[in-house]
Parts: sequence; C-alpha cells; structure tokens
Amino acid sequence: MENNKNKYENSEITITFSPRKCIHSANCVKELSEVFRTSVIPWINLEGSTTEKIKSQIKRCPSGALSYCSKSRNKSA
Ligand code: SF4
Repeated sequence: MENNKNKYENSEITITFSPRKCIHSANCVKELSEVFRTSVIPWINLEGSTTEKIKSQIKRCPSGALSYCSKSRNKSA
C-alpha cells in the first residue's frame, strides 16, 4: 500500500521512478539498456548515457512510471 517512489539524480537531472505505475512494457530496458538495467542495483545508471538520451527515453515510458525534472532553468524538453 505504500507509494514508494525512487529518485536518481546527477548534476543535470532528477529521475523519479514509481514502481506501482510501471506496466513492465520493458521499453526502457530494451531501448536504453546502458541506463535502465534489469539485474543490477541500482537499476537506473545515469552514467550510462547522455542526459538528452535519458530524457528522450523517459518520454517513451507508456505508463508514466518514469519522469524527470531538469535542474537547468532552460528545460529543452
Ligand atoms: S518503460 Fe516505463 S512502464 Fe515500461 S518497464 Fe520502463 S518504467 Fe516500466
């Protein structure tokens, strides 16, 4: 019953993952496996790709389980 959100961040972006929203489509792990990993903890590795690619991938999450907030004032997304 808990609303357990996970946060991951680097100097440019904060990613939030809401496990209860995830529908396990696997878009993220198939399309950007360097960042979204199935058998590694932590499962999101922000050093695996560029921030722009990570943001682009998050936009393709069909459930809204993944979201991000840019730390830059000039959000280009
Ligand atoms: S793309 Fe979104 S819904 Fe699909 S597995 Fe990843 S987090 Fe879950």
